[in-house]
Amino acid sequence: MHDVRLEVIREARGRAQPWEGGDNGVELSRDAALGISEYAPGAEVVAAGRIWVSAGIARYPKEFMPDRYYRSCDACHHVQIADDRGELAQSCLNCGAAYAAPPRTCVEPIGFVTSIADRNGRDPGVSRLRSRPADEARLITIPRLDRFAEGDVPSVRFVTLRGSPLPGEAEAEGRLVVVNRGPKGFGFLRCPWCEHAEPARAAFGAQRLTAHRDPRTGEACGAGGDKQVWPADLAHVFETDVVQLRFSRPFPEPADTAPAAGRESFLRTLSEALRLAASRLLGVDRRDLRSTYVVAPEGPVVALYDGIPGGAGYSRRIGSEEAPIRRLLEEAVELLECRAAQCASSCRACLNDYGNQLWWDVFDRKPVLAWLRDLLAARADRVPGA
Ligand SMILES: [Zn+2]
Ligand SMILES: [Zn+2]
Ligand SMILES: [Zn+2]
Repeated sequence: MHDVRLEVIREARGRAQPWEGGDNGVELSRDAALGISEYAPGAEVVAAGRIWVSAGIARYPKEFMPDRYYRSCDACHHVQIADDRGELAQSCLNCGAAYAAPPRTCVEPIGFVTSIADRNGRDPGVSRLRSRPADEARLITIPRLDRFAEGDVPSVRFVTLRGSPLPGEAEAEGRLVVVNRGPKGFGFLRCPWCEHAEPARAAFGAQRLTAHRDPRTGEACGAGGDKQVWPADLAHVFETDVVQLRFSRPFPEPADTAPAAGRESFLRTLSEALRLAASRLLGVDRRDLRSTYVVAPEGPVVALYDGIPGGAGYSRRIGSEEAPIRRLLEEAVELLECRAAQCASSCRACLNDYGNQLWWDVFDRKPVLAWLRDLLAARADRVPGA
């Protein structure tokens, strides 16, 4: 993980070096996992009592920002990413499903710029900020099945991955990616001549840039009007400590008319229940742990990971004597029982916390509670493959 910055351009001085803020006064930086959305072209940021609008993606002479390519699987949630389009596998590396959509281009920005035309920013007044959350982080590293260890619960295997692997160590690196596909989901168009960038208007294919000025100099840019460029998403690939829990128990296939939503509801509820349970069990602030999932043929794979750059060793304690899998699952069951409120699907007394507001409507605790109880009750000799 690293930071990205928003350079607030207040003087026309030509191309800057990173962090050459000098007397410009306002320079912002943020964990890139959030910054690729909060500072994305078109987004608004409050600093020093003013509103600043991001106008482009910074380019620095010494920092190369290559295009990369990725595919994400609708069936199982896994993402693969490569430097060359031709290196991408034609079907999902995790579940083998054929991809529904063509590969997408992404870049990993180092920074963003405001425009010299807005050198004084805007009065905050009562206006609402335009910003949009990034997609959640998705797993890139999924170890082979034989790397997963048996825990103390039959049908749950686990593996820990390190954010900063030690030299010569066999442990795999925990790698994830978070992507911002832009306000319309089509990515962003980047001017090849200046640092201007804007949300794309169509999903695929070359598109015209609107007429614009160079954000750094304020001069009219020759690329507006007829210059066609291809869209790219903003991505941030990062390494952190991860534990993956692999369940050999199919989850209930939702029978209703919206199976995708039902699946998402089950998997999201399970992932977040385990995150909150892990934070209790480890005595770690819940904001320092995050969750995501993929789906394997035999059941869900939930990943818990440290929200701290490079990892802080939290997730890697899961499965140890201090935090055995059974205790983790029991803790999740207790949480999902929602003793305080007995809510219908989720509430602040059980699943809902500040960090997961996006999914409050998706959570449904009862199916996951029943599934976990069955799993904990199952006898080892009756579990297939154990
Ligand atoms: Zn897949
Ligand atoms: Zn331009
Ligand atoms: Zn509740």
